[in-house]
Amino acid sequence: MQVINPATEQVIQELTEDNPSSLHEKFALLQKGQRAWAGKSLAERIDIIRHFSSLLEKNIEELAQILSSEVGKPLQQSRNEINGARGRIQWLCDHASTYLQEEIMSDSPGMQEKIVYEPLGVICNISAWNYPYLVGTNVFVPALLAGNSVMYKPSEYASLTGLAIAKYFYQAGVPETAFQTAIGAGSVGAQLLELPFQGYYFTGSYQTGQKIYSQVAPKMVPVQCELGGKDPVYITDDISDINAVAAGTADGAFYNNGQSCCSVERIYVHEKVYDAYVAAFVQEVKSWKMGDPTEEGVYLGPLSRKAQVAILEKQVKQALDLGATLACGGKAVDRKGYYFEPTVLVNVNHQMDVMKEESFGPIIGIQKVKDDAEAIALMKDTAYGLTSSVYSIHENRAQEILSQMDSGSAYWNCCDRVSAALPWSGRKHSGFGATLSHQGIRAFTKTKSYHLRQP
Ligand code: NAD
Repeated sequence: MQVINPATEQVIQELTEDNPSSLHEKFALLQKGQRAWAGKSLAERIDIIRHFSSLLEKNIEELAQILSSEVGKPLQQSRNEINGARGRIQWLCDHASTYLQEEIMSDSPGMQEKIVYEPLGVICNISAWNYPYLVGTNVFVPALLAGNSVMYKPSEYASLTGLAIAKYFYQAGVPETAFQTAIGAGSVGAQLLELPFQGYYFTGSYQTGQKIYSQVAPKMVPVQCELGGKDPVYITDDISDINAVAAGTADGAFYNNGQSCCSVERIYVHEKVYDAYVAAFVQEVKSWKMGDPTEEGVYLGPLSRKAQVAILEKQVKQALDLGATLACGGKAVDRKGYYFEPTVLVNVNHQMDVMKEESFGPIIGIQKVKDDAEAIALMKDTAYGLTSSVYSIHENRAQEILSQMDSGSAYWNCCDRVSAALPWSGRKHSGFGATLSHQGIRAFTKTKSYHLRQP
């Protein structure tokens, strides 16, 4: 398998893909080692994971270089991601004991009732490339803390990062019998579905999630799917600082080249502030530097995957054919690498894919609305349900709108945000199950209810 630098289109490295027999061996190893890993005290496992985090900090420049070279993320955004993952690791380690310890639910004379959180066993984590440290951490860290052994399949577009993560886990003291990587493309992921894992935790597209969920269903083991989104933002007519709101939402749409599951994917603006908002938004977008991800100060690098360029071109063409107007951008950049101009489309509507299908790139549609009712109807007109956001100086107004959204996260005056303390979960085509928070720690356990009667 070739690892290609999306900024230069050059092959960085060749890797050997796993195959059914190597995966079988790795699975057997994990199965053998899981009990010993779970047999360590939780405090020991926490120490090892904290050590892993300190190794990420110590080696951040090397790791950021690797990440930028294979996914095209600007170096500073790679550093931000690794630091973000370290923040999540800290939260998970700080709270693991609270949420994994047994809970005495009633203790009357002669009878005690308690819940014990046991590890699932050997779990499989099939992951995405856009934030390998963040979406990886959401799964393999709490899974290991809870005493599971983990088969981690990084995306084929982030394999070098996956191997680096394994290297530092081993250095930190996670045994090879508790953590293994599966290297390869979708076919390797499909082979993992054949093995008897005791839980499947997937991050990726709706299309792949649907396949995995249906194929794994007969195993009757836990499955979680963290999938894509078409996340809306509504700018009401009462915002106080239009430039700040425009800059914040533009960052929400274009950070990491718009390749985030919770990127702002569509914007609705009250007609009273529409013109001023669009002008400020476009001004912000035009201020960014695009270039090689290793150059300091670059905000937009190349897209990670070549295939996405054609998808964006198709969305732009269809929108223009249906009456949209380009406020800026609109095409691939004429240079080596998978670069696409940051693109703002106005005069858009819901006949256009750019307002309905996940773009996963540096492109956004901004639609004018006449009131809150129209904004609500449009925001709800989606198959996805990851996040929704409202900008307003009035909390009540925002809450009233957000309460009607069928999404896992709701933002007031912010967007494109994840907190380790809150469940990260989608609804509808954005998936199900939760990572992070107390739910995301217990997601890697099975409960045993003890009914203990004294003789
Ligand atoms: P993808 O679905 O193409 O691939 C994800 C993983 O699944 C990869 O490791 C891939 O090799 C594997 N895979 C592909 N086909 C498979 C099969 N048939 N069986 C088993 N495994 C298979 O997604 P992607 O392009 O890597 O990621 C982008 C998508 O992920 C976007 O839709 C994005 O919104 C979503 N995402 C969601 C979250 C979240 O937390 N909700 C986070 C990050 C990304």
